[in-house]
Amino acid sequence: MIPAQFDYVAPTSLEDALSALAQAGDDAKIIAGGQSLLPVLRMRLNAPELVIDLGKIDSLRGVRDDGDAIVIGAMTTHATVGSDPLVAEHAAVIHEAVKHLADAQIRHRGTFGGALAHADPGGDLGAPALILGAQFVIAGSGGTRTVAADDFFVDLFETAIGDDEILTEVRIPKHTGWGAGYEKFVRIAHQWPIVSVAAAVKVDGGTISEARVGFANMGSTPIRARGVEQALTGQSASADAVRTAAAQAAEGTNPPSDLNGDADYRRHVATVLVRRAVLAATGA
Ligand SMILES: Cc1cc2nc3c(=O)[nH]c(=O)nc-3n(C[C@H](O)[C@H](O)[C@H](O)COP(=O)(O)OP(=O)(O)OC[C@H]3O[C@@H](n4cnc5c(N)ncnc54)[C@H](O)[C@@H]3O)c2cc1C
Repeated sequence: MIPAQFDYVAPTSLEDALSALAQAGDDAKIIAGGQSLLPVLRMRLNAPELVIDLGKIDSLRGVRDDGDAIVIGAMTTHATVGSDPLVAEHAAVIHEAVKHLADAQIRHRGTFGGALAHADPGGDLGAPALILGAQFVIAGSGGTRTVAADDFFVDLFETAIGDDEILTEVRIPKHTGWGAGYEKFVRIAHQWPIVSVAAAVKVDGGTISEARVGFANMGSTPIRARGVEQALTGQSASADAVRTAAAQAAEGTNPPSDLNGDADYRRHVATVLVRRAVLAATGA
């Protein structure tokens, strides 16, 4: 289908984008890479009167080192994130997850901020951002605020970003030296996961000193597998210990049932993927 008619602006500064957004209110929509928004417009699930393109705002693009965090600009493409050495060194689980995200064409158009703002429960980036304790920097006409990952994902396709706000960057605390694993289960290549698991693990002298594990598509938002994290902490980084901890993977989850699989099936898949992701992260 052809989208409903809309006006289009491509401001060159964040201030101009915010002012266009403030003037248009509910009638405006931000476009980043367009990989999720354009299908929505084409299906006429949304019909904004104004589309505000962030593509000409250079300050929203790039990855930088900021002391104890790396900062990823909202308009940084998945391809850039996937090949950035800072991401690989300090946020290895994001580096792993991006490899599994869609196909090369989409990775060159779609953006880190756009994917997180879209908040698809099956998105590949939500769980890695959640487990690394990402901080989301959101600008509005009244200034800038920072929202912790625990508060950013509100519900299905809903985040803490207000209608008159723009996500500008995501700060990821450095997890240097942590092992990482990302496991994604799909029926069709280059698609969203039926279930996916992100794992980041710190191993000191053969013992797991800290573990962070998260899911996509096991609820309406990305969620942490807290039971597994607790069960892993203090254990030896061995295949047996990981297998025992993974058995609790589905606790506290509320997976959907759909044509790809029912909730029980997803719970089973989650257990298998947690074991594989944590084993990859520990190197056991
Ligand atoms: C065929 C196909 C397969 C895909 N497979 C996967 C997959 O396997 N895994 C996966 O995770 N994703 C997948 N995607 C989605 C892809 O990751 C998109 O890049 C992503 O969902 C949206 O990023 P975007 O930059 O294109 O955002 P857009 O489509 O431009 O925007 C998405 C939404 O976010 C809002 N938005 C964007 N940027 C901002 C901002 N800075 N501040 C506030 N709001 C903003 C927009 O208004 C819109 O509502 C797939 C997409 C397609 C078309």
